[in-house]
Amino acid sequence: MYIFKKQADLTSHLSKFRTKNLSIGFVPTMGALHLGHISLVSISKKANTITVVSIFVNPTQFNSKEDYDNYPSTIDNDTALLKEAGCDILFLPSSDDIYKNQVVAQHFDFDGLEFEMEGKHRTGHFNGVGTIVKTLFEIIRPDNAYFGEKDFQQLQIVKKLVDKNNLAVRIHGCPVYREKDGLAMSSRNTRLTRQQRLAAPFIFASLQKAAALFTHKSIDQVVLQVENEFKKNALLELEYFTIADETTLRTVSKKEPGKSYRAFIAVYAGNIRLIDNIKLEI
Ligand code: AMP
Repeated sequence: MYIFKKQADLTSHLSKFRTKNLSIGFVPTMGALHLGHISLVSISKKANTITVVSIFVNPTQFNSKEDYDNYPSTIDNDTALLKEAGCDILFLPSSDDIYKNQVVAQHFDFDGLEFEMEGKHRTGHFNGVGTIVKTLFEIIRPDNAYFGEKDFQQLQIVKKLVDKNNLAVRIHGCPVYREKDGLAMSSRNTRLTRQQRLAAPFIFASLQKAAALFTHKSIDQVVLQVENEFKKNALLELEYFTIADETTLRTVSKKEPGKSYRAFIAVYAGNIRLIDNIKLEI
């Protein structure tokens, strides 16, 4: 596995492959890798000649300095996991290399996707995501890029970014990879106390219950039931639970035939924020 810390070195290395007309798959991450990330690498490897993974904790997508400062970093373990997964290139840029001397996000219009759910609770988050993803696409110029459905809103926003800017990359959504007890794998899980970790599977259990209720109850009833059950949970604080149209990400109050819906949730365990979602069938 090649490791590059400077974009100039990476682009000069990749230029050798471009002339040979091979396909480049790309998996952007913020590190503290787990099997969820590795599942994206495996999907990329099956479809591309070369797989590039980036690790960059992007300052402009954090709306809380505390969250940014506490974001876990496990670079030796990440490198070992990526080697074992057969990753071809690891890109580890510095903030200076990406942002030069201006650590600011560009402003994007994602047709309203950016104002729903995470957008309401994490001001400016998706401008930061758009900035880093677009920058990394420009450096790496991948044919295919892989994003987890764990961050479903981010996935839809990246698709919008590509459409609106006519970027020559295909975006692929990959299934949420879970622990055996259902908890969606996340770099933030390592920060949970033992008690919080034991409580956390309740998040996915609530989503599954919501999906079961959704087939025969009204949306209001499903939302109320989930909210009430969280009120009884001493370790997990519900930030939002919402049922939304999968395409517009707008919260819905009525089911309509022919539409696709998903339930989205954000929960605090202490000061650690966890998100998850589930597809709903009518
Ligand atoms: P992150 O390092 O958290 O920014 O995540 C990098 C990529 O991995 C994003 O596309 C995430 O959606 C994806 N990802 C993170 N956790 C999971 C998971 N449990 N299952 C699938 N994809 C994931």
